[in-house]
Amino acid sequence: MSKAAWHAYNTYRKGVSYRSQLSVTAALLNAQREDILAFQREQLTKLLRHAYQTTPYYRELLKTESAHISQIPTLEKRNIREQLEHLCSKAIPQARRIKNATGGSTGAPLTFYQDRNYWNQRNLSVYYFDRWAGWNFGERQLIIWGALSDVENNQDWKHQLNNFWRNHHWLNGFHLTDAAMWTTFRKMDRCHPQTILAYPSSLYQFAAFLFENGLAPKWDLKGIITSAEMLHSHYRSLTETVFGTKIYNRYGGREVGLIAMECAAGRMHINCHDLYLEIDSPNPYTTPGDILITQLNNYAMPFIRYRIGDIGRLSDEVCPCGNQLPILAELLGRSTATFRTRTDTLIHGGYFTQQFYNVIGLEQFQLIQESLKHCVLKVVVNAQWTEAARRYMVQKIQGALGADVIVTVQFVEEIPLPTSGKREFTISKVGVGRND
Ligand SMILES: [Zn+2]
Repeated sequence: MSKAAWHAYNTYRKGVSYRSQLSVTAALLNAQREDILAFQREQLTKLLRHAYQTTPYYRELLKTESAHISQIPTLEKRNIREQLEHLCSKAIPQARRIKNATGGSTGAPLTFYQDRNYWNQRNLSVYYFDRWAGWNFGERQLIIWGALSDVENNQDWKHQLNNFWRNHHWLNGFHLTDAAMWTTFRKMDRCHPQTILAYPSSLYQFAAFLFENGLAPKWDLKGIITSAEMLHSHYRSLTETVFGTKIYNRYGGREVGLIAMECAAGRMHINCHDLYLEIDSPNPYTTPGDILITQLNNYAMPFIRYRIGDIGRLSDEVCPCGNQLPILAELLGRSTATFRTRTDTLIHGGYFTQQFYNVIGLEQFQLIQESLKHCVLKVVVNAQWTEAARRYMVQKIQGALGADVIVTVQFVEEIPLPTSGKREFTISKVGVGRND
């Protein structure tokens, strides 16, 4: 019943059948590489013309309506803070702008505008790509979500109704207690969700809880979609073992929508229908750099070469899965989590997470690079913690950042989650991403 109801509800809301719109999106995303790139170029030309003709910011910056994308200065978060109104299109009335904001896990929250068309297309892309993980309209899904605002908003009747249509069940990743995890597992055991959508760190916590208690799903779970945080390799291996299914990692941002999605062959395909992705690096195929996104559907406020704050690298391989969308080879996490050494080497935050996740006695950690010479290591430990563990961690940090780097170890009761719910294991105050 739920699947049919969901279609009827959406058709009523949008006026046109979602299914037919989705098939148009799917046709493009399943097309040959040259057709995908031709469509993308066409969309890009239209967007640049629109930006030049209708936004004061780009009128001033571009000087001509036929500017080449590679010549356009990058859009930084500070530009959005300072020039918000000038970035908005005069062709879209204020009443048709939809306000949105990032959670502000690092730095202050960022406010911006989107339009209906952007949201419509964003949802279509999510529907298209989530089907790679076995998801389908109206089928049961367990959502383990960490963003406090999303979970709280979810309490009102509109969201409750939406959850009913969409057959969603929520577990609050922000307060993941043993009791909540027990209840959720029992509920899952009764209603057999086909897919899970989760924050990686909350999912990992849930998987570890099930593992420790000898629990495992006894039904066929089609797939797990992770989003919003770094998916560390130890998260993936434990979760895939406990749930007996594959994780499909989804990469996106509130500012620009779904950026890339992992396929059955384990590659991240770029969503060329909705955006144009560049890497700010001398060679994007060999040297990782900042990811720049041009959003192709948001005419209320064009994002052109927007520095989203993550580091990645491209690949030119043809994916064995058969899909011809270009591939994001590496996603190395937040640039604000990336450390810089005195010899200008970059150490991605995931390195430390990988070294420390199985240190005995360590419950949680957070490593903060205060300066090139000084780091603070916050640890939450249990009774099994030893002096040897402390020495091991300090040595690993000094091994990566320099033997003379001072590491101050602080024992704390807890490391609070930011309201975004995104766990931050590493924060650098001297890295590459401090320009916002
Ligand atoms: Zn693939």
